[in-house]
Amino acid sequence: MSRIEFKNINKRYAPDLSLTINNANLQIDTGEFCVFVGPSGCGKSTLLRMVAGLEDITSGDLLMEGVRVNDVPPAKRGVAMVFQSYALYPHMTVRDNMAFGLKVLGSNKAEVERKVKAAADILQLTPMLDRLPKALSGGQRQRVAIGRAIVKEPRVFLFDEPLSNLDAALRVQTRLEIAKLHHDLGSASMIYVTHDQVEAMTLADKIVLLHTGALIEEKGSVAQVGSPMALYHRPASLFVAEFIGSPKMNLLPAKLVRAEATYAVVELAGQQVTAAVDARHVSAGAEVRVGIRPEHITIAGSVKREGQGCTLPATLLHMERLGDSSLLYVNVGAGIPTLNVKVEGSASTSIGERLTLRLIPEQLHLFDAAGQACERPIVLPS
Ligand code: ADP
Ligand code: MG
Repeated sequence: MSRIEFKNINKRYAPDLSLTINNANLQIDTGEFCVFVGPSGCGKSTLLRMVAGLEDITSGDLLMEGVRVNDVPPAKRGVAMVFQSYALYPHMTVRDNMAFGLKVLGSNKAEVERKVKAAADILQLTPMLDRLPKALSGGQRQRVAIGRAIVKEPRVFLFDEPLSNLDAALRVQTRLEIAKLHHDLGSASMIYVTHDQVEAMTLADKIVLLHTGALIEEKGSVAQVGSPMALYHRPASLFVAEFIGSPKMNLLPAKLVRAEATYAVVELAGQQVTAAVDARHVSAGAEVRVGIRPEHITIAGSVKREGQGCTLPATLLHMERLGDSSLLYVNVGAGIPTLNVKVEGSASTSIGERLTLRLIPEQLHLFDAAGQACERPIVLPS
């Protein structure tokens, strides 16, 4: 049975009362790691705080294990929350910080000790139990905050940007620890808020991507829900396509030439390019956008061979060598945005060189005038 369900949930904050959350319908299953992601201000924290019971729900129903909890107080929901700011008590030791919540609830001493010890073991904090927070690094402080959540033995862990205050190396390390924690705790569900698509991709079973609201009717609405690979391989709209993936997907203006059930031909920079999508709802001659991820373009010899996709002539404008890979910035025609190409190794090309790009139909995306992705009839990894 599903653990948490959002049914037609709306949120309006006073005083302006515009929709901050617009008709959220979601399901988070037991034991699932669900990440709410999106640009700053899109409503991620609001959505999370509604689960915690820290924010009123304007309309709609929030269910936990089938029971409506809109009016259930936070302490009775079986949730524990970890914030970006660790919010530890500075005058208390690590041990007391972790034990405090349980003591307030009146748990007996032996039980408190057992739970704190178990959490400290999981988080490798045992040698630090008698230290004050000021004697800990940022990563260790965040682990104490996570420990404080673990001892409550919640059914659902709620994380609000827990890694944002850590430096890059520590973020990666703590990210792995959170993934391991989820694995070790088995049946506990996790809802994790971040603006960072890499955190979302690496941690999530399920990603919920929220709109920022360039269009008023989209503000605070869910742009797409799915596995990381589903959002990467099958973004439902331009917004999702641009948000997921680094470097960003290239989006190029094109015209539809012909649409069949399993493929469409477009004119892109004077070339005919085939994409394995169903664009039959778009009229011939209409403007579309072709989406190509930098890592899905290869540099080819200039002779086209059968069955290897389409080719596009290009000129190298600039190159960045990263060691394991190189980013090429290429021009494919006047008035067309510079294309970003990611190739393995250190490319042995020079500025101004003419290149032939090879595009694979199964890796091309097509977006209609409304910014919606054309369906992909073939099966891709999910
Ligand atoms: P995110 O966590 O995605 O950055 P939030 O959920 O914090 O976004 O905020 C979503 C929107 O709601 C923002 O425009 C923000 O200014 C507004 N907002 C958040 N909290 C309040 C509040 N207590 N009162 C009024 N507006 C708020
Ligand atoms: Mg937030």
